[in-house]
Amino acid sequence: MSDSKKVENVIIIGGGPAGYTAALYTARANLEPLVFEGFQWGGQLQNTTDVENYPGYPEGIMGPEMMSQFRAQAERFGTRFVTDDVDRVELSDGGMQKVFLGDEEHRARTVILAMGAEPRRLGVPGEMELGGRGVSTCGVCDGAFFKGQRVIVVGGGDSAMEDSIFISKYASELTIVNRRDEFRASKIMFERARERENIDFKTPFLPEEFIAGESGKLERVRLRNAESGETEEIETDGAFVAIGHIPKSEIVAGQIETDENGYILTEGGSTRTKLGGVFAVGDVVDHVYRQAVTAAGSGCKGALDAEWYLRDTPPAVEAHWMPGGEPLEIAPTPGA
Ligand code: NAP
Repeated sequence: MSDSKKVENVIIIGGGPAGYTAALYTARANLEPLVFEGFQWGGQLQNTTDVENYPGYPEGIMGPEMMSQFRAQAERFGTRFVTDDVDRVELSDGGMQKVFLGDEEHRARTVILAMGAEPRRLGVPGEMELGGRGVSTCGVCDGAFFKGQRVIVVGGGDSAMEDSIFISKYASELTIVNRRDEFRASKIMFERARERENIDFKTPFLPEEFIAGESGKLERVRLRNAESGETEEIETDGAFVAIGHIPKSEIVAGQIETDENGYILTEGGSTRTKLGGVFAVGDVVDHVYRQAVTAAGSGCKGALDAEWYLRDTPPAVEAHWMPGGEPLEIAPTPGA
């Protein structure tokens, strides 16, 4: 249960690399962060196997283990965690930020939004079941595992082109499967993919099912012609689904500025939003880089922005009083 009179220095919403890094930095600044890490804490790395591109792990590390370590490091400096999903928030411009779990209200002077994003899924059989066993949503993470093998990449946007160009350095043959004959990707990215000798295109097709072989790993994909409806099966060792991402910004919808795809907008190179005391970090902001290491870096920036805000901004008058006129207990701000 929340301590109804307490006003936190900082509440962090999100339990991926961005949220945990923001927690680590704010905890080490003695801001005693409270993190709502989500019921399925760990973010997208919780669904990843080997992570080989995070600096500092020369042998690689499993995604869930890495997230446990991020979490433990934040905990070591006094971070408190709530392993549940936030139901709603009431954001304010420079006033009290409110975060609700059901009817339970938590107040803070600053909030760091780190809810992340999730890959858009096709929603076909085998897609989730074969995750980590041939089907992936992250070319940069998993492309190198398909050295000398056959791979398909699903999608026709810049992500699909970029993933294909990267994976084609390892795969022997790569087929880009797109549901239309036209490609949404920028011309330059499309041309770069087209110039690669081992990349082919198959349009207008859509995966209908990912099928495992006897080993339990992906072996075939059934494709459906989006125009004629005819189906065919092709053999493949790997399939990358690159049909975009969905930022997890629903809880702040209508309260904060986002772009047309729902990514939260921040000012300049900072993590500040247009609302004083509200910061946004990681993949809920970033639709371009989307790496664990860039999310962690962004979480660090969010923590520093929040720390500086608390140092430079006196608590708003409303932050001193409960609705009934009782005084609130505002957490002391180190360095203020
Ligand atoms: P995107 O531009 O939204 O493209 C998504 C692609 O997936 C489209 O080809 C779309 O087909 C297809 N698609 C969507 N839902 C599908 C479904 N259910 N079944 C089959 N296909 C489906 O997403 P993105 O490629 O991730 O790019 C997102 C943003 O990041 C863009 O602004 C992009 O320019 C940017 N980005 C830039 C770079 C770069 O410049 N280096 C790299 C990556 C991303 P339709 O076209 O038919 O809708």
